[in-house]
Amino acid sequence: MINPIRVFMDKDLDQTPEIEYLISKLKPTPEKVADPRPVYDLINQSDDPVGFAKKVLYITRNKGALIRQCPGTSYYTCCDYTILHCGTYCTMDCSYCILQAYFHPPVLQYFAGFDQYTAALDPVFQGDHIVRIGTGEYTDSLIWEPVSLMPGFLVEKFATQDRAILELKTKTVNIDSLLDLDHNRKTILSWSLNTPEMIASQERGTASLSARLKAAAKAVSKGFRVAFHFDPIFLYPGCEGAYEKVVEAIFAHVSPEDVVWISIGTFRFMPHLKSIIEARFPDSTIPYGEFITGLDNKMRYFKPLRIAMYQRLGALFRQLAPGVAVYFCMEDEEVWMKTFGFFPGKPKALAHMLDRAAADRCGLDSRLV
Ligand code: SF4
Repeated sequence: MINPIRVFMDKDLDQTPEIEYLISKLKPTPEKVADPRPVYDLINQSDDPVGFAKKVLYITRNKGALIRQCPGTSYYTCCDYTILHCGTYCTMDCSYCILQAYFHPPVLQYFAGFDQYTAALDPVFQGDHIVRIGTGEYTDSLIWEPVSLMPGFLVEKFATQDRAILELKTKTVNIDSLLDLDHNRKTILSWSLNTPEMIASQERGTASLSARLKAAAKAVSKGFRVAFHFDPIFLYPGCEGAYEKVVEAIFAHVSPEDVVWISIGTFRFMPHLKSIIEARFPDSTIPYGEFITGLDNKMRYFKPLRIAMYQRLGALFRQLAPGVAVYFCMEDEEVWMKTFGFFPGKPKALAHMLDRAAADRCGLDSRLV
């Protein structure tokens, strides 16, 4: 939930219905500022800027690029995803969250301005290829839903065209205001999933697994397509059976035909995240597995351990949902081959596979795949 103790607002923002709605939903009343320096100063004075920043909201416009390519690496197969940069940081608190180490200082920012979003998205909607675009890269897509008209605006905007798909990725169950919108299947509501014990121990303030899956079932009952992300998967005693139960629980709630894609990826992290986890989550044991440094300089579980886990899950997906596109975010040819028996190694091959899934499930223009 967005429940800030201080709210700052760019003094140049127009009083649009979007801003009036935000102000009506937020407490305390926003303090107008000419630039973000007072926000940075306040956060930097805290003993725990990473934690404190979750309680200080800054409402502004995005002064940079609203649409960006996902920063995949050249070493691992990338899915060619596009980011709609509508906010930064998060009110929930996962021990492994990369955003803790990404922003200096971290700032919970909401980027307002429907006019700006329209100007950025209209050319995408008239493009000559399919675009998969999401808002959940630098923030959780739906923490904003209780206080903002933005998620609903985007759902209705994407509903008007058939060349782009919007993915709203979350660990919340904040979907109520979206359910009755005319979405035209062009929005995928997607949930990051983990085992109940990892959610309880590593994902502070997030919805429970059962709440996430019930929300997914509710979304499907309203005609939405859904997706799931097993990322990060943690390796711990008994993890194989625990993650298999989560997979089974998915298909007890939704049918495979309603699922556009599922991604899987084991825990990986930049080395400097370790000290942040140790300081902020002293009880967490996640940084102490069998890690090696990957080609992208991130710490990853030893490859045979990753493959063994993926093979268990891959077999279950083949059994329960053979028609669903299951893919790795950031794995190499050996992992693909040993898990799925194929490797989308040609440029854009993984992107093509996911474009095809989006076209089939969501009614995108299949001539563009
Ligand atoms: S929900 Fe996502 S963005 Fe929010 S703290 Fe957890 S990992 Fe970070």
